[in-house]
Amino acid sequence: MRRADARRQSPGAVGETRLYDSQSGDVMPDRPPYNRVTVMLAAGLLLSGIVALSQLLSREPVPLLTRIQQDGVLLVATREGPSTYHEGAQGPDGFEYALIAGFAKRLGVEVRFIFPPTLDDLLTTVTRGEVHMAGGGLTATPTRRQRLRFSSPYDLVTEQLIYRRGSQRPRALGDIAAGDLHVVGGSSHEETLSRLRRRGYPALSWVPRYDAGVADLLAALERGELRLTVVDSSEASLSRRIYKHAAVALELGEPQPIAWAFPPHQDASLRVAADAYLMDIEENGRLQRLRARYFGHSDRLNYGATREF
Ligand code: GLU
Repeated sequence: MRRADARRQSPGAVGETRLYDSQSGDVMPDRPPYNRVTVMLAAGLLLSGIVALSQLLSREPVPLLTRIQQDGVLLVATREGPSTYHEGAQGPDGFEYALIAGFAKRLGVEVRFIFPPTLDDLLTTVTRGEVHMAGGGLTATPTRRQRLRFSSPYDLVTEQLIYRRGSQRPRALGDIAAGDLHVVGGSSHEETLSRLRRRGYPALSWVPRYDAGVADLLAALERGELRLTVVDSSEASLSRRIYKHAAVALELGEPQPIAWAFPPHQDASLRVAADAYLMDIEENGRLQRLRARYFGHSDRLNYGATREF
């Protein structure tokens, strides 16, 4: 009977293959019934996906600063050194450490420091946006400004040519013999030397050391393995007790600004917050107190005060 009904409902079904339920003998539909449900479900999902995507695309991106505050972590590249970051009796310490820790506290986040092995690596880390920012006595040089963003400066340093006490003191750049001067590769010091070579000292030469930091070069000078290097005045004033043979021969030029560096492609929210923080601590005297605490009251920019150490 049911079969007859089925045939009646499909008059044009002559020759067609029909499926019957082996148990009940019912005619089975041409396609399983869940197909329509599946199609409707997929269409619904697709539609809601399109709606969600268009909402996502039309939304303003969340500013970096907000994301950092949501995550609770500020990722900072730095370098170890007496003027930047070192392990003190009560944990991490140093001028840069104190500044960055103060900034993170202002933002209400914790800091995670990373220590790229060389200065060049550190700068690459920032350029690639692998950290939110970098701080470590970094000079905001004209060349670096082309590939990085910088905060407003919070210190000024002069670059000093250091010679080994007991050897002949160079009195002018022309006194530097080939192979005598070793400087950190990719440093502001190298950039300054390149500029000086272009502007009147074509014979000036130096050995760029990509395997070493300033402290390594000072240590090598102390051991008598090299005779000349360049360091920032901030570094030099703190190193005087450690490296008894290091003495200032010359200053290489005008004071240079020290600032925090930021990746070039991130939005400005973090940098704007950094500038506001630095301006605040400049105005309320905290920056001055930190300088006094970490560098003492000696005028580090005064050539006479630091020429022999
Ligand atoms: N101010 C220097 C620079 O940014 C620091 C170099 C160093 O101490 O390694 O290149």
